[in-house]
Amino acid sequence: MSTPTVARPRTSERAGAAPAAIPFADCWITEPARAAAQRVLASGWVTTGVECTAFEAELAAYVGAPHGVAVSSCTAAIELALRSYGLPAGTAVLTSTMTFCGAVHAIEHAGLRPVLVDVDPDTGMPTTDTVARAAATCEGRPGAMVLVHWAGDVLDRAALAAAAGLPEDRVVEDAAHALGSAHRGVPVGSGAAVCFSFYATKNLPIGEGGMVTTDDPDRAAWLRRARLHGMSQDAWRRYLPGGSWRYDVAEAGLKANLSDLQAAIGREQLAFLPAWQEARAALAERYDAGVADLPGVRLPHRPEPADGRHAWHLYAVQVDGGVSRDEVARTLAERGVGTSVHFIPVHRLTHYSPLTPPGGLPGADLMFERLLSLPLYPRLSLDRVDDVVSALADVLEGAHR
Ligand SMILES: *Cc1c(COP(=O)(O)O)cnc(C)c1O
Repeated sequence: MSTPTVARPRTSERAGAAPAAIPFADCWITEPARAAAQRVLASGWVTTGVECTAFEAELAAYVGAPHGVAVSSCTAAIELALRSYGLPAGTAVLTSTMTFCGAVHAIEHAGLRPVLVDVDPDTGMPTTDTVARAAATCEGRPGAMVLVHWAGDVLDRAALAAAAGLPEDRVVEDAAHALGSAHRGVPVGSGAAVCFSFYATKNLPIGEGGMVTTDDPDRAAWLRRARLHGMSQDAWRRYLPGGSWRYDVAEAGLKANLSDLQAAIGREQLAFLPAWQEARAALAERYDAGVADLPGVRLPHRPEPADGRHAWHLYAVQVDGGVSRDEVARTLAERGVGTSVHFIPVHRLTHYSPLTPPGGLPGADLMFERLLSLPLYPRLSLDRVDDVVSALADVLEGAHR
Protein backbone atom coordinates (compact mmCIF):
# COMPACT_ATOMS: atom_id res chain seq x y z
CA MET A 1 0.00 0.00 0.00
CA SER A 2 1.42 3.35 -0.93
CA THR A 3 1.55 6.21 1.50
CA PRO A 4 -1.11 8.75 0.66
CA THR A 5 0.29 12.12 -0.22
CA VAL A 6 -1.52 15.27 0.70
CA ALA A 7 -0.80 18.51 -1.07
CA ARG A 8 0.09 20.94 1.70
CA PRO A 9 -0.52 24.62 1.21
CA ARG A 10 2.57 26.80 1.33
CA THR A 11 2.68 29.07 4.34
CA SER A 12 1.61 32.10 2.31
CA GLU A 13 -1.47 30.27 1.02
CA ARG A 14 -2.79 29.32 4.43
CA ALA A 15 -5.87 31.35 5.14
CA GLY A 16 -5.31 33.89 7.88
CA ALA A 17 -1.78 32.66 8.65
CA ALA A 18 -0.01 34.89 11.13
CA PRO A 19 3.22 36.38 9.80
CA ALA A 20 6.12 34.03 10.50
CA ALA A 21 7.84 34.69 13.79
CA ILE A 22 11.22 36.36 13.68
CA PRO A 23 13.41 34.74 16.33
CA PHE A 24 16.04 36.84 18.05
CA ALA A 25 18.92 34.52 17.18
CA ASP A 26 19.84 31.99 14.52
CA CYS A 27 22.60 29.41 14.41
CA TRP A 28 23.56 28.61 10.84
CA ILE A 29 25.81 25.58 10.53
CA THR A 30 26.38 25.42 6.80
CA GLU A 31 26.24 22.29 4.65
CA PRO A 32 30.05 22.21 4.10
CA ALA A 33 30.55 22.52 7.87
CA ARG A 34 28.21 19.59 8.50
CA ALA A 35 30.07 17.55 5.87
CA ALA A 36 33.39 18.43 7.52
CA ALA A 37 32.02 17.25 10.87
CA GLN A 38 31.08 13.92 9.31
CA ARG A 39 34.55 13.65 7.78
CA VAL A 40 36.24 14.20 11.15
CA LEU A 41 33.91 11.77 12.92
CA ALA A 42 34.77 9.11 10.34
CA SER A 43 38.51 9.79 10.57
CA GLY A 44 39.07 8.23 14.00
CA TRP A 45 40.65 11.44 15.39
CA VAL A 46 38.17 13.84 16.91
CA THR A 47 40.05 15.68 19.63
CA THR A 48 42.66 18.44 19.20
CA GLY A 49 44.81 17.74 16.15
CA VAL A 50 45.53 18.91 12.64
CA GLU A 51 42.13 20.55 12.13
CA CYS A 52 42.77 22.74 15.17
CA THR A 53 46.20 23.71 13.92
CA ALA A 54 44.77 24.67 10.54
CA PHE A 55 41.84 26.57 12.07
CA GLU A 56 44.25 28.51 14.30
CA ALA A 57 46.33 29.55 11.31
CA GLU A 58 43.31 30.48 9.21
CA LEU A 59 41.51 32.50 11.86
CA ALA A 60 44.72 34.26 12.91
CA ALA A 61 45.34 35.20 9.26
CA TYR A 62 41.77 36.51 8.98
CA VAL A 63 42.35 38.94 11.85
CA GLY A 64 45.96 39.75 10.96
CA ALA A 65 47.47 38.02 14.00
CA PRO A 66 50.71 36.02 13.92
CA HIS A 67 49.41 33.37 16.37
CA GLY A 68 46.11 31.80 17.30
CA VAL A 69 45.45 29.31 20.10
CA ALA A 70 42.12 27.50 19.88
CA VAL A 71 40.32 26.90 23.17
CA SER A 72 36.97 25.61 24.36
CA SER A 73 35.28 29.01 24.82
CA CYS A 74 35.88 32.74 24.97
CA THR A 75 35.46 32.51 28.73
CA ALA A 76 38.36 30.05 28.90
CA ALA A 77 40.30 32.28 26.48
CA ILE A 78 39.97 35.24 28.86
CA GLU A 79 40.97 33.16 31.89
CA LEU A 80 44.01 31.73 30.11
CA ALA A 81 45.05 35.14 28.74
CA LEU A 82 44.92 36.56 32.28
CA ARG A 83 46.83 33.59 33.70
CA SER A 84 49.53 34.12 31.08
CA TYR A 85 50.55 37.35 32.87
CA GLY A 86 51.49 35.42 36.02
CA LEU A 87 50.01 38.11 38.30
CA PRO A 88 49.98 37.61 42.08
CA ALA A 89 46.69 36.22 43.42
CA GLY A 90 44.17 38.92 44.21
CA THR A 91 45.62 41.50 41.81
CA ALA A 92 43.01 44.02 40.64
CA VAL A 93 41.80 43.63 37.07
CA LEU A 94 39.64 46.35 35.56
CA THR A 95 36.63 45.31 33.50
CA SER A 96 33.54 46.93 32.09
CA THR A 97 30.34 46.30 34.03
CA MET A 98 28.46 46.29 30.71
CA THR A 99 29.62 42.84 29.71
CA PHE A 100 28.72 39.18 29.89
CA CYS A 101 29.05 37.64 33.35
CA GLY A 102 31.40 34.94 32.02
CA ALA A 103 34.06 37.52 31.22
CA VAL A 104 34.08 38.56 34.89
CA HIS A 105 33.95 34.96 36.16
CA ALA A 106 37.13 34.41 34.13
CA ILE A 107 38.93 37.09 36.17
CA GLU A 108 37.78 35.46 39.38
CA HIS A 109 38.68 31.94 38.24
CA ALA A 110 42.16 33.19 37.32
CA GLY A 111 42.53 34.08 41.01
CA LEU A 112 42.33 37.83 40.38
CA ARG A 113 40.02 40.56 41.63
CA PRO A 114 37.57 42.24 39.25
CA VAL A 115 37.18 46.02 39.57
CA LEU A 116 34.17 47.29 37.67
CA VAL A 117 34.43 50.20 35.25
CA ASP A 118 31.45 52.32 34.19
CA VAL A 119 30.56 52.93 30.56
CA ASP A 120 29.52 55.82 28.37
CA PRO A 121 25.74 55.26 28.05
CA ASP A 122 25.92 56.10 24.33
CA THR A 123 28.57 53.52 23.40
CA GLY A 124 28.30 50.84 26.08
CA MET A 125 32.07 51.03 26.52
CA PRO A 126 34.45 52.51 29.08
CA THR A 127 36.01 55.92 28.46
CA THR A 128 39.43 57.19 29.50
CA ASP A 129 37.63 58.99 32.37
CA THR A 130 35.76 55.96 33.70
CA VAL A 131 38.90 53.81 33.40
CA ALA A 132 41.08 56.36 35.21
CA ARG A 133 38.45 56.69 37.95
CA ALA A 134 38.27 52.93 38.50
CA ALA A 135 42.07 52.57 38.37
CA ALA A 136 42.36 55.20 41.11
CA THR A 137 40.26 53.02 43.45
CA CYS A 138 42.71 50.09 43.23
CA GLU A 139 45.30 49.95 45.99
CA GLY A 140 48.51 50.13 44.08
CA ARG A 141 47.82 49.70 40.41
CA PRO A 142 45.61 47.30 38.46
CA GLY A 143 47.55 44.41 36.96
CA ALA A 144 45.49 44.09 33.80
CA MET A 145 42.28 45.15 32.15
CA VAL A 146 39.63 43.18 30.22
CA LEU A 147 37.91 45.33 27.62
CA VAL A 148 34.93 44.31 25.52
CA HIS A 149 34.36 45.69 22.03
CA TRP A 150 30.68 45.93 22.83
CA ALA A 151 28.20 44.79 20.14
CA GLY A 152 31.00 44.82 17.56
CA ASP A 153 31.79 48.50 17.99
CA VAL A 154 35.47 49.14 18.61
CA LEU A 155 37.37 50.82 21.42
CA ASP A 156 40.76 52.49 21.53
CA ARG A 157 43.00 50.00 23.36
CA ALA A 158 46.05 52.28 23.55
CA ALA A 159 44.13 55.24 25.00
CA LEU A 160 42.34 53.12 27.60
CA ALA A 161 45.54 51.30 28.60
CA ALA A 162 47.20 54.67 29.15
CA ALA A 163 44.22 55.84 31.24
CA ALA A 164 44.64 52.74 33.43
CA GLY A 165 48.40 53.26 33.74
CA LEU A 166 48.95 49.90 32.07
CA PRO A 167 51.18 48.83 29.20
CA GLU A 168 49.09 48.00 26.15
CA ASP A 169 49.93 44.29 26.35
CA ARG A 170 48.15 44.07 29.72
CA VAL A 171 44.84 44.65 27.99
CA VAL A 172 42.91 41.44 27.33
CA GLU A 173 40.45 42.21 24.56
CA ASP A 174 37.11 40.46 24.84
CA ALA A 175 36.39 40.23 21.13
CA ALA A 176 33.38 37.90 21.50
CA HIS A 177 31.40 40.49 19.49
CA ALA A 178 34.27 41.83 17.44
CA LEU A 179 35.27 39.26 14.85
CA GLY A 180 35.34 41.59 11.82
CA SER A 181 35.76 44.84 13.78
CA ALA A 182 38.72 47.10 13.08
CA HIS A 183 40.28 50.10 14.77
CA ARG A 184 41.75 52.72 12.40
CA GLY A 185 42.30 50.11 9.71
CA VAL A 186 43.77 47.50 12.10
CA PRO A 187 41.55 44.44 12.61
CA VAL A 188 40.64 43.53 16.18
CA GLY A 189 42.80 40.46 16.79
CA SER A 190 46.25 41.87 16.32
CA GLY A 191 46.89 42.70 20.00
CA ALA A 192 48.69 40.86 22.78
CA ALA A 193 45.67 38.84 23.99
CA VAL A 194 42.49 38.95 21.96
CA CYS A 195 39.70 36.52 22.86
CA PHE A 196 37.11 35.32 20.38
CA SER A 197 33.95 33.25 20.85
CA PHE A 198 32.43 30.73 18.46
CA TYR A 199 29.35 30.23 20.61
CA ALA A 200 26.16 29.35 18.72
CA THR A 201 24.96 32.93 18.26
CA LYS A 202 28.26 34.68 17.56
CA ASN A 203 29.39 35.93 14.14
CA LEU A 204 31.30 32.69 13.44
CA PRO A 205 29.12 30.02 15.02
CA ILE A 206 30.51 26.57 15.73
CA GLY A 207 28.30 25.81 18.71
CA GLU A 208 30.99 26.20 21.32
CA GLY A 209 34.59 27.29 20.97
CA GLY A 210 37.03 30.14 21.35
CA MET A 211 40.45 31.42 20.42
CA VAL A 212 43.15 33.69 21.75
CA THR A 213 45.10 35.54 19.09
CA THR A 214 48.39 37.13 20.08
CA ASP A 215 51.40 38.90 18.61
CA ASP A 216 53.67 37.25 21.19
CA PRO A 217 55.16 33.81 20.33
CA ASP A 218 56.01 33.10 23.97
CA ARG A 219 52.47 33.82 25.09
CA ALA A 220 51.16 31.59 22.29
CA ALA A 221 53.44 28.73 23.41
CA TRP A 222 52.41 29.18 27.05
CA LEU A 223 48.71 29.21 26.10
CA ARG A 224 49.13 26.05 24.03
CA ARG A 225 50.40 24.19 27.07
CA ALA A 226 48.03 25.81 29.56
CA ARG A 227 44.90 24.97 27.55
CA LEU A 228 45.72 21.23 27.81
CA HIS A 229 46.57 20.49 31.44
CA GLY A 230 49.92 22.29 31.22
CA MET A 231 51.39 19.27 29.45
CA SER A 232 54.55 19.95 27.47
CA GLN A 233 53.88 21.21 24.00
CA ASP A 234 52.27 18.96 21.43
CA ALA A 235 51.36 16.38 24.05
CA TRP A 236 48.24 15.81 21.97
CA ARG A 237 50.44 14.04 19.45
CA ARG A 238 51.25 11.27 21.92
CA TYR A 239 48.52 9.02 20.52
CA LEU A 240 49.54 9.54 16.90
CA PRO A 241 51.64 6.90 15.15
CA GLY A 242 55.23 7.55 16.09
CA GLY A 243 54.17 9.79 18.97
CA SER A 244 55.80 9.47 22.35
CA TRP A 245 53.97 8.90 25.63
CA ARG A 246 56.47 11.08 27.48
CA TYR A 247 55.48 14.53 28.60
CA ASP A 248 56.21 16.92 31.40
CA VAL A 249 54.01 19.32 33.37
CA ALA A 250 55.61 22.48 34.70
CA GLU A 251 52.39 24.09 35.97
CA ALA A 252 48.76 23.13 36.41
CA GLY A 253 46.90 24.04 33.24
CA LEU A 254 43.22 23.99 32.35
CA LYS A 255 41.28 21.46 30.34
CA ALA A 256 40.19 23.93 27.70
CA ASN A 257 41.31 22.60 24.34
CA LEU A 258 39.16 22.70 21.19
CA SER A 259 38.31 19.45 19.40
CA ASP A 260 39.07 18.77 15.74
CA LEU A 261 35.35 18.24 15.28
CA GLN A 262 34.72 21.85 16.28
CA ALA A 263 37.76 23.16 14.41
CA ALA A 264 36.68 21.50 11.16
CA ILE A 265 33.25 23.13 11.48
CA GLY A 266 34.93 26.46 12.19
CA ARG A 267 37.19 26.22 9.13
CA GLU A 268 34.26 25.68 6.79
CA GLN A 269 32.21 28.40 8.50
CA LEU A 270 35.14 30.80 8.13
CA ALA A 271 34.82 30.62 4.34
CA PHE A 272 31.35 32.16 4.72
CA LEU A 273 32.37 34.85 7.18
CA PRO A 274 33.22 37.66 4.71
CA ALA A 275 29.79 37.32 3.06
CA TRP A 276 28.10 37.07 6.46
CA GLN A 277 29.80 40.24 7.62
CA GLU A 278 28.59 42.04 4.50
CA ALA A 279 25.08 40.78 5.16
CA ARG A 280 25.22 42.01 8.77
CA ALA A 281 26.37 45.46 7.63
CA ALA A 282 23.60 45.66 5.02
CA LEU A 283 20.98 44.62 7.58
CA ALA A 284 22.29 47.19 10.07
CA GLU A 285 22.05 49.86 7.38
CA ARG A 286 18.46 48.83 6.69
CA TYR A 287 17.66 49.06 10.40
CA ASP A 288 19.33 52.49 10.55
CA ALA A 289 17.16 53.79 7.73
CA GLY A 290 13.99 52.46 9.31
CA VAL A 291 14.70 53.30 12.93
CA ALA A 292 16.14 56.80 12.34
CA ASP A 293 12.74 58.49 12.12
CA LEU A 294 10.99 56.61 14.90
CA PRO A 295 10.13 58.60 18.00
CA GLY A 296 11.76 57.59 21.27
CA VAL A 297 14.40 55.24 19.94
CA ARG A 298 18.09 55.87 19.39
CA LEU A 299 20.34 54.25 16.83
CA PRO A 300 23.32 52.25 18.04
CA HIS A 301 26.65 54.05 18.22
CA ARG A 302 29.14 53.19 15.52
CA PRO A 303 32.68 54.42 14.82
CA GLU A 304 33.31 57.14 12.27
CA PRO A 305 34.51 55.39 9.09
CA ALA A 306 38.07 56.67 9.64
CA ASP A 307 38.06 55.38 13.22
CA GLY A 308 36.99 51.84 12.65
CA ARG A 309 34.66 49.16 11.43
CA HIS A 310 31.72 47.75 13.36
CA ALA A 311 31.29 43.95 13.19
CA TRP A 312 27.54 44.22 13.82
CA HIS A 313 27.30 41.30 16.19
CA LEU A 314 24.36 43.09 17.81
CA TYR A 315 21.98 45.75 16.61
CA ALA A 316 21.12 47.31 19.97
CA VAL A 317 18.85 50.34 20.02
CA GLN A 318 18.03 52.43 23.06
CA VAL A 319 14.37 52.97 23.89
CA ASP A 320 14.21 56.45 25.29
CA GLY A 321 10.68 57.77 25.13
CA GLY A 322 7.26 57.46 26.69
CA VAL A 323 7.26 53.68 26.73
CA SER A 324 9.53 51.41 28.73
CA ARG A 325 11.99 49.03 27.14
CA ASP A 326 10.28 46.11 28.85
CA GLU A 327 6.93 47.09 27.39
CA VAL A 328 8.41 47.46 23.91
CA ALA A 329 10.05 44.03 24.23
CA ARG A 330 6.79 42.49 25.46
CA THR A 331 4.73 43.96 22.62
CA LEU A 332 7.27 42.89 20.02
CA ALA A 333 7.20 39.37 21.47
CA GLU A 334 3.40 39.33 21.10
CA ARG A 335 3.94 40.11 17.44
CA GLY A 336 6.44 37.27 17.08
CA VAL A 337 9.58 39.41 17.12
CA GLY A 338 12.27 38.10 19.47
CA THR A 339 14.55 40.58 21.22
CA SER A 340 17.15 40.48 23.96
CA VAL A 341 19.16 42.76 26.26
CA HIS A 342 22.97 42.93 26.23
CA PHE A 343 23.76 43.11 29.02
CA ILE A 344 22.44 43.13 32.53
CA PRO A 345 25.37 45.10 33.98
CA VAL A 346 27.31 42.67 36.09
CA HIS A 347 27.06 44.83 39.24
CA ARG A 348 23.30 44.17 39.10
CA LEU A 349 23.87 40.43 39.45
CA THR A 350 23.73 39.16 43.03
CA HIS A 351 27.23 37.72 43.01
CA TYR A 352 28.85 40.95 41.82
CA SER A 353 26.71 43.57 43.55
CA PRO A 354 29.31 43.93 46.35
CA LEU A 355 31.71 45.20 43.68
CA THR A 356 29.56 48.28 43.02
CA PRO A 357 31.72 51.32 43.83
CA PRO A 358 30.38 53.94 46.29
CA GLY A 359 29.25 56.33 43.52
CA GLY A 360 27.53 53.49 41.64
CA LEU A 361 27.94 52.84 37.94
CA PRO A 362 25.37 55.32 36.61
CA GLY A 363 26.31 55.19 32.92
CA ALA A 364 25.67 51.47 32.74
CA ASP A 365 22.49 51.72 34.83
CA LEU A 366 21.05 54.42 32.58
CA MET A 367 21.91 52.48 29.44
CA PHE A 368 20.57 49.18 30.81
CA GLU A 369 17.07 50.62 31.28
CA ARG A 370 16.96 51.51 27.58
CA LEU A 371 18.80 48.70 25.81
CA LEU A 372 17.06 46.44 23.34
CA SER A 373 18.84 44.14 20.89
CA LEU A 374 16.89 43.44 17.69
CA PRO A 375 17.26 40.30 15.53
CA LEU A 376 20.43 40.43 13.40
CA TYR A 377 21.95 37.46 11.59
CA PRO A 378 22.97 36.65 8.02
CA ARG A 379 19.87 34.58 7.26
CA LEU A 380 17.59 37.48 8.20
CA SER A 381 16.29 39.19 5.05
CA LEU A 382 15.92 42.92 4.45
CA ASP A 383 12.15 42.35 4.33
CA ARG A 384 12.20 40.82 7.78
CA VAL A 385 14.13 43.84 9.04
CA ASP A 386 11.35 45.99 7.60
CA ASP A 387 8.83 43.83 9.48
CA VAL A 388 10.72 44.35 12.74
CA VAL A 389 10.90 48.09 12.12
CA SER A 390 7.19 48.37 11.36
CA ALA A 391 6.32 46.38 14.50
CA LEU A 392 8.57 48.72 16.47
CA ALA A 393 6.98 51.74 14.79
CA ASP A 394 3.49 50.56 15.79
CA VAL A 395 4.55 50.14 19.40
CA LEU A 396 6.36 53.45 19.64
CA GLU A 397 4.00 55.57 17.59
CA GLY A 398 1.09 54.19 19.59
CA ALA A 399 2.85 55.35 22.73
CA HIS A 400 3.66 58.79 21.30
CA ARG A 401 0.27 59.54 19.82
C1 LIG B 1 29.48 35.33 24.46
C2 LIG B 1 30.37 36.22 25.24
C3 LIG B 1 31.39 35.72 26.03
C4 LIG B 1 31.56 34.25 26.32
O1 LIG B 1 31.81 33.50 25.22
P1 LIG B 1 31.82 31.90 25.39
O2 LIG B 1 32.49 31.43 24.13
O3 LIG B 1 30.40 31.47 25.47
O4 LIG B 1 32.59 31.59 26.59
C5 LIG B 1 32.25 36.60 26.64
N1 LIG B 1 32.09 37.92 26.50
C6 LIG B 1 31.09 38.44 25.77
C7 LIG B 1 30.99 39.92 25.65
C8 LIG B 1 30.19 37.61 25.13
O5 LIG B 1 29.17 38.13 24.44
